[in-house]
Amino acid sequence: MSLAAYASHDNASRGRRVPEPPAPTRGDFQRDRDRVIHSTAFRRLVYKTQVFLNHEGDLFRTRLTHSLEVAQLGRSIARSLGLNEDLVEAIALAHDLGHTPFGHAGQDALNACMHQAGEVASHGANDASTPNEPAGGFEHNMQSLRVVDELEERYPDFDGLNLCFETREGILKHCSRANALWLERVEPKGVGARFLNGTSPSLEAQLCNLADEIAYNAHDIDDGVRSGLLSIEQLRVVPLFERFLQTTLSHHPNLQGRRLLYEVVRRMLSAQVYDVIDATCAAIKQLGVAVPADVALAPVLVCFSAEMKQQSADLKRFLMHNLYRHPQVMQTTVQARRVVTDLYAAYCSEPHLMPAHRRLSGVEVSIKRQVADYIAGMTDRFAIKEHERLTGSKVFV
Ligand code: MG
Repeated sequence: MSLAAYASHDNASRGRRVPEPPAPTRGDFQRDRDRVIHSTAFRRLVYKTQVFLNHEGDLFRTRLTHSLEVAQLGRSIARSLGLNEDLVEAIALAHDLGHTPFGHAGQDALNACMHQAGEVASHGANDASTPNEPAGGFEHNMQSLRVVDELEERYPDFDGLNLCFETREGILKHCSRANALWLERVEPKGVGARFLNGTSPSLEAQLCNLADEIAYNAHDIDDGVRSGLLSIEQLRVVPLFERFLQTTLSHHPNLQGRRLLYEVVRRMLSAQVYDVIDATCAAIKQLGVAVPADVALAPVLVCFSAEMKQQSADLKRFLMHNLYRHPQVMQTTVQARRVVTDLYAAYCSEPHLMPAHRRLSGVEVSIKRQVADYIAGMTDRFAIKEHERLTGSKVFV
């Protein structure tokens, strides 16, 4: 299918940080997607927590399977809207590369460590970032960008994967003002600019944000029920779930258990996909968006209808209260925080405990940032093993 005029076209790319000749048979965004798949950080996603820890069961989503589901939903919607599927896939597969082990618990712990370290080190003075590293704390979106810009070591001529501007822009989904200012200093009018001037990213980047949300809302229902922490009965208070439970049962009155759950989730996913396609087409038409320059100046266009937006928010709220804050999940959160906090303290006081090759070559980066980079790159199980080696205590037994 040919691309719409408002899509991101390979030949209109703002290019790579280090110029490279085009590949003979592949487009630039297709090449980005391939670079992400071959990266070390991508392979590590298989052993990183989405909600349930990797060792809790073989069938729960990991960051890797989550990323694949985001890519699938993203491509599906992109094709209908005439957007660039290769760019969507590259962004979707890379969007979680910067995630720490243990999901959000790991990220929050590392962020808290970095902030405390800043205060201690600077004694209240200005803890300005160096030209080579972001400001203060730890943000996983910023870290995903850091992985593809700096931390991957695969190519002779540059650090990172040297991805196109549009792919990097999509990966940096959120960014604090402090980090946007830092990015603007090191890369004027670059990927940080939109957070300062209030412009919108490409439609492909917008789509990945929404596909991420659709994917985790659906798979967390599935994983929640699989784990026994949620039940189909309990989910019936969620209007979106109840609606498709009723339609499923009207077509298949005897369906129950796993197959019933899968069918409800499948119908929910389809309804959300069609809703996004219709609502986005309407928004594009209503605002007269014709080319990417219009997209930048318009509000976010890839969206749900008002009704689906409300239903999706209800589902999210349900999952927050009943799954993410479930006592059993919270228990692993406490343990995860301990592992990350102990590792951070150990490496900061004795940096030689980190392998020498982890130190960034040729650039000056603070020890605390090197430690954060090292910990963020760990898989769940490596972090647990390393914690046991350094502290002698067993967590998650
Ligand atoms: Mg995600």
